[in-house]
Amino acid sequence: MDLKVSNRGGHNKQAVGTHGYVDEVDEDRLICAAAIKYQKLAGIETIDVTPGRCSTNVDLAYGVNKANAANVDLFISHHLNATPGGFGVEVCYLSAKGKVYADRICAKISALGFKNRGSKLRKNLYELNQAHAPAIIIESFFVDCKSDVDLYHKLGADAIGKAIAEGILGHSIATKTVTSTVTAKVSSYTPVKLGEVTATTLNQRDHANASSAIVSTFKKGDIVHVYGLVDGFYSVVEHKIGKWISAEYVKDITPKVTPVVKPVVAPTGQLYKVQTGAFSSKTNAENETERLEKLGIETTIKLV
Ligand SMILES: [Zn+2]
Repeated sequence: MDLKVSNRGGHNKQAVGTHGYVDEVDEDRLICAAAIKYQKLAGIETIDVTPGRCSTNVDLAYGVNKANAANVDLFISHHLNATPGGFGVEVCYLSAKGKVYADRICAKISALGFKNRGSKLRKNLYELNQAHAPAIIIESFFVDCKSDVDLYHKLGADAIGKAIAEGILGHSIATKTVTSTVTAKVSSYTPVKLGEVTATTLNQRDHANASSAIVSTFKKGDIVHVYGLVDGFYSVVEHKIGKWISAEYVKDITPKVTPVVKPVVAPTGQLYKVQTGAFSSKTNAENETERLEKLGIETTIKLV
């Protein structure tokens, strides 16, 4: 696809964004990075116009100036919303071309489970006015809405980034994502193993590899219910569902089922005798004794 897109993570640690159950800047950076990853995968040329630490005055101009200088075809600013009682995804636009992208991205992100608040025409936003290219501001979810944030944690930034890239393209991107497979399994998980963490601290990661982002930490002695193994990493039910811990530091403590055998004792003074045969001919009885003795079984012949 012959398309050049600029991506900007909204705000920065000096000119801060909104804050709720998560911080807007922390999460919009992850979503921006994932969106760039999937755009590149789909063959879109991307530039990252995310600002570093700077004042509010510089913050907005930085991305727009960089995008205009690079003559991009689409300007995207990644944000998160916050309003008491608000939830879901919305995308702000100004131009008709911007609305096409906004509608598609709203549809893709809402397909992940967020409420579709729809595309919003905004005439007074700096980035929408100053970017030369069609511009959109994506508000993926509300940082102050617990159910939105819970869903975000379940899905991960990667899934939202992918949905954004698919919204730009107007079709799905066929990729093998571990996350989606695992999310599907979670709804009806059956733990296959009970484990105990053996490392002092054990990082739970976003994906089943040691360089993936850390999402939580287990400590020595923590008990985990394992329901999947991928590339040496266990997916567990505790902490963040659908995330991964190294199997190397988990001891299998699944209880072993051993059948209980109660010995039956003969009544006092009596014995249980084991008989292998009964013969009317003594020769046949002796032949049988010989056969058993060859097998190492001690025998006696008794006339009954
Ligand atoms: Zn924002």
